[in-house]
Amino acid sequence: ALALNDVRKSFRSGGDALEVLKGISFTVRPGETVSIIGPSGSGKTTLLGICAGLDQPTTGTVTLCGEDVSHMGEDQRAAIRNERVGFVFQNFQLIPTLTALENVMVPLELRGEKNVRERARELLGKVGLADRVTHYPIQLSGGEQQRVALARAFVNEPDILFADEPTGNLDSDTSEPIVDLLFELNRNLGTTLVLVTHDLELAKTTDRLLKIDHGVLSEINASGHE
Ligand code: ATP
Repeated sequence: ALALNDVRKSFRSGGDALEVLKGISFTVRPGETVSIIGPSGSGKTTLLGICAGLDQPTTGTVTLCGEDVSHMGEDQRAAIRNERVGFVFQNFQLIPTLTALENVMVPLELRGEKNVRERARELLGKVGLADRVTHYPIQLSGGEQQRVALARAFVNEPDILFADEPTGNLDSDTSEPIVDLLFELNRNLGTTLVLVTHDLELAKTTDRLLKIDHGVLSEINASGHE
């Protein structure tokens, strides 16, 4: 589903180049669930963006859903993202001027699909928001907004879902059903999950745990050793 080979990423800061990712290689098999943990500023969000084809590495290769997205223009990457990739971000990124239903309809409309409204409604029902479809994001709680974001991420039935702190802004009562939902969709649709999280309990429930520190990645095995 995903393969990185010696991925490096540098940002220019002033005259200097800051190397944020320092030669990262790993593979995620289809249907696997993987967490990426690491201290603040270690490069997690940067790594996730590169994995998801939102951004490109400075050097190295990224193969996403069988395609080399590291040597591809933005249009081609956008096409792959629309077809096969889902995203959930910490700050939800819902469109404030659209209702919950319309937010979920957007990816389907982008793909020119039919029965868009019905399918979006069905998915909002699945995430327990059947009675919130006409609400605007500002009228929804954090947990409800996150469920809308999840419904939107899953509406394309993506092969792979990237989630950056999916429970970051939520208390444990609200985050539990979100996490359950993520894993349910992984089981039911076989969606590969790649999560960035500070939540060690959540991280431990995935098949694999990767740790990034100062731009270097290591795998933590089931016994908790690197
Ligand atoms: P957090 O857990 O705090 O969200 P993170 O592990 O996700 O942190 P990143 O957001 O990937 O960390 O950032 C890693 C480093 O790269 C930081 O030092 C950040 O300042 C720097 N960085 C990220 N994006 C850019 C950019 N566009 N330009 C310059 N520096 C950047």
